[in-house]
Amino acid sequence: MFLNELFPNKCMVCGKNINFRKLICESCEDSLFQSSFINKNNKIIYFAGLYEEPLSRLIKEFKFKQNTHFANIFAKLIYKTYKYYNIEFNDLPEILYIPSTKKHLKIRGYNPVYLIAKEFSKITGFPLRKNLKIQKGYSKAQVETKSYFERTQQVKNKFIFEGNSNKNKRYILIDDVYTTGATIREAINIIEGEVIPIILCRNVKNV
Ligand SMILES: [Zn+2]
Repeated sequence: MFLNELFPNKCMVCGKNINFRKLICESCEDSLFQSSFINKNNKIIYFAGLYEEPLSRLIKEFKFKQNTHFANIFAKLIYKTYKYYNIEFNDLPEILYIPSTKKHLKIRGYNPVYLIAKEFSKITGFPLRKNLKIQKGYSKAQVETKSYFERTQQVKNKFIFEGNSNKNKRYILIDDVYTTGATIREAINIIEGEVIPIILCRNVKNV
């Protein structure tokens, strides 16, 4: 209470006064959830929200301004999507995530999608696996190139699956922003077993 009075903390979306431990208020958190899915080449891809205001701004805070506390809010959105679509597995699924490139890891000091996946693992109890790695020699980030063709070409052989893969396993694959889908496709292609991708948000504008 005392801290709240000294330093009023405001919701980063609507500006309402909130508890100093929070980043956004509950109703704004609820409004970020705009789930959807697409069926691409017989693969269903789920999304928790849309890459537009205010979620796009919050993701930038999270990825570029060290505001890592958003990981929990984003993981909750992914969990809501998981529940909303009744994504059920016969066996306990494992969680995989799209890793950052070495260059980005160096700049940021953290891997944003890993943080979301870690929080999602805490919520669900599903084990988090680090099998997906960036192929050695891969450096350029997807966003740095412009055309669809360039982006699709560039992510070819972007990933490797380290360790034992097993076609009987089930995975939930997590990423933050879906644009062309090239990254997710590439990752799914090298994973044996059943993969259900749940992405934080879908970018419908810059495709
Ligand atoms: Zn708010």
